[in-house]
Amino acid sequence: MLRALLLDMDNTLCDTHRAVDAAKIQFARHVGRCFSKETSLDGGTFASAFVTGIYREWSDSQRGAYLPIIERQGEEAFRKQLIKDLLAEQHINTVTDALANDLLQVFESERLAAFDFYPGIADFLGRIRDKLTLVVITNGPEFSQLPKIAAVNLGDYVDHIIVGGQESEQKPARSIFEKALQLADCQAEEAIHIGDSFNADIVGASNSNIKTIWVRHEQRPDPVSTISPCYTVDHPCEIPALVEQIAG
Ligand SMILES: [Mg+2]
Repeated sequence: MLRALLLDMDNTLCDTHRAVDAAKIQFARHVGRCFSKETSLDGGTFASAFVTGIYREWSDSQRGAYLPIIERQGEEAFRKQLIKDLLAEQHINTVTDALANDLLQVFESERLAAFDFYPGIADFLGRIRDKLTLVVITNGPEFSQLPKIAAVNLGDYVDHIIVGGQESEQKPARSIFEKALQLADCQAEEAIHIGDSFNADIVGASNSNIKTIWVRHEQRPDPVSTISPCYTVDHPCEIPALVEQIAG
């Protein structure tokens, strides 16, 4: 019998891609205005590189530079340094810490303003909570995850929220799924996990013997993985009907 629903947040419950794309456009415009006298600046390239950087798609030299900053000073310090470095690449070397902070706040506020549930998801959570215990497991640092959680009042819709950055290990580690099962007070076979990341969500939950729903978006299955999701949907808007059918 199904008793608990474990849920990823980014690009499963909430349209993070859309929020980041919207923020990227506004960020590029803002930086362009800020440095309008700098003819060398390409705001779009800068904003794209910033998003690539915060999603940890680093070169080896960036990895060597940024991991120690994150470990010693945290995510916010890393993001400010990333802004300074990317602007320096465009020959703008006059960025103070205060200006880097102001620019970072522009990106964050634009991202949060555009951050929301996919259509139908908030109502679905309200309905299904009568039947199932709901536990969100979201990977990522507190710096980025807590404001997003607050922006949609996620705590009002679910019973528990686990932020990967506050735990000793993030998805796909078994420990974080075991914590979710403990919070929901149920066994692995009584839960189902929904997420869009094949590696973090589907492999992680499967390794903990939890059934899975993969939100595929445009992705293809990992060709070498021996793990396959129990159910696959193309888009989060298909989650409510499938879960309500499974839950009976
Ligand atoms: Mg996700």
